[in-house]
Amino acid sequence: MSHSLPKVLLVDDDTAMLRLLAKWLEAGGFDVRRAADGYQAMAMIEADCPAILVTDWEMPQFDGLDLCRWVRAQNLPNYVYTIFLTVRCGSQDIVRGLEAGADDFVKKPIDRDELLARMRSGTRVMELERRLCTAANTDTLTSLANRRTLFDQFSREWPRSVRHHVPLSCVMLDIDFFKKINDTYGHPVGDEVIRQVGAALTAGVRSSDTPARYGGEEFCVLMPETTEEQAVQWAERMRLRLGILRIATGEKELTISASFGVAQRLPDTASAEQLIDWADQALVVAKRSGRDRVVPYTALNQKLQLENTENDPAAILRGVPARTVMTTLVAPLRQDDTVGSASNYFLRFRINSAPVVDATGQLVGVLSEKDVMAIMLGRDWWSTKIKDVMKKNVVCYEEETPALAVYEFLCRVTIRGAVIVKQGRPTGVITRSSLLRYFMNALAVNRVGGVTHDLDAAEAALSSFAHADCPRKRISQTVRALADEISDLNQRMAGDSDDLIPCVVGGGSRIQELVNDLLAISRYANELRDRAGDDDRDPSPFGDPAPMQQGAAALLAAMQLAEQG
Ligand code: GH3
Ligand code: MG
Ligand code: MG
Ligand code: MG
Repeated sequence: MSHSLPKVLLVDDDTAMLRLLAKWLEAGGFDVRRAADGYQAMAMIEADCPAILVTDWEMPQFDGLDLCRWVRAQNLPNYVYTIFLTVRCGSQDIVRGLEAGADDFVKKPIDRDELLARMRSGTRVMELERRLCTAANTDTLTSLANRRTLFDQFSREWPRSVRHHVPLSCVMLDIDFFKKINDTYGHPVGDEVIRQVGAALTAGVRSSDTPARYGGEEFCVLMPETTEEQAVQWAERMRLRLGILRIATGEKELTISASFGVAQRLPDTASAEQLIDWADQALVVAKRSGRDRVVPYTALNQKLQLENTENDPAAILRGVPARTVMTTLVAPLRQDDTVGSASNYFLRFRINSAPVVDATGQLVGVLSEKDVMAIMLGRDWWSTKIKDVMKKNVVCYEEETPALAVYEFLCRVTIRGAVIVKQGRPTGVITRSSLLRYFMNALAVNRVGGVTHDLDAAEAALSSFAHADCPRKRISQTVRALADEISDLNQRMAGDSDDLIPCVVGGGSRIQELVNDLLAISRYANELRDRAGDDDRDPSPFGDPAPMQQGAAALLAAMQLAEQG
């Protein structure tokens, strides 16, 4: 903008005046377009936003004041400096003009020199605005858009994509082993790598695309009117292009590679954040499957079907939906309840965060102990509404999402867990400990050595046991532990100690965990049976009924014991 002439839109219903003023302004070094009324002006501003608007005040139907108010109400790509041409010069009129959003006035009949002087003053303001805007919207190292500009651009492109049913895609890329580059060659070389990747992106996109620096050495490219397939093709070309970069380091040249995740907006994609999250999930898979590659989000489910090798730990989560791994939700918090009631809830259930729902049960946020602590020193914090304190950005996955995708996500981020939803209503959470428990149970049931000592010892002693006896052993151990917990609770109910409630809460939580264990073990017992394919025992889909029956009977006995109390 600083090198080209400042763009001016001149609006006047008087054609002779329009012609004369245009001549003056063009001679004064401006790039002038003309509109004969307010309506035409609106269309021209929408098509190509000017830096300065010079408009007549008095026009039939839609006058200068209306036009100016309209301009101020739009989300235009830049501020439009607006000068009114008017015979009105009373202070009442000036106030009305300023309130409509005018920046300056030129009195009619118009003096050429005064008009040009005011135009130059407007140009200075716009140049300043442009510089501030550049500084606020671009990343200094790469001169690419920063995150904020990227989201601004998303907010423009998203509704357009929805309204006109045009595709919209997003590519996330992350330089491979970048820490090593920093460590080996130092930060200045690292910075140079980031700069060169930025330059390659700038040179490699269409003018309608927005390449942005998303974080350290992560970039995000917004691609309007691009399908996932086209974005993948672009990413593949960019990957090759980055592969041939040679970065000088002093001694020798350095080569780099990057991994890419690609996602396209689908009819049910909720937001730009979700689209970016999808691209990011695909990027995580690109990293984990060997780096220097492009992974589209739609291929994620296929990609996750990793080879079922005997020793592949990922096989444990293969084909497993999030629903199976999640810890079922006790009850969500309600956004209109108070932080005080939430604090009680945390203490009671011994948890440190919970999903928050609105009056219709839809997930709207998540509240954690940390959020409560942040306001605890304030006045009346306990009566604050949950909705005023909760975090609104919740990571959530549908129940049917592959558990492996949630696992990949939690590996990558510092967030402790993700909320699992069914049609927008939270049904559970997957935290690191949910995953850990699931893995441990699976390993134990698969008889992987070194997982649990007691189990290993039992294994050695009972080496002649048949395959399905191992789950049986685990189930009966778990059921015994359950019975112990319940009879312990039962005894406490008989006495009248002060700490009954904490004991019940503690015991209840342990029982809940044990029941979870029991369900997980049973599930794996079934799978073991299924995998044992040619086994000539009972081909029931539930596997060998013996350990199940034994487990169920013991559980029933334990519950009866509890009821007797
Ligand atoms: P991976 O292949 O898994 O991406 O490995 P990586 O080493 O690239 O891992 P990661 O993406 O986590 O590393 C990012 C590093 O980038 C960490 C940080 O020290 C470095 N970094 C972030 N911003 C800058 C920057 O502006 N300049 C330089 N030189 N380094 C940066
Ligand atoms: Mg007029
Ligand atoms: Mg990296
Ligand atoms: Mg990174």
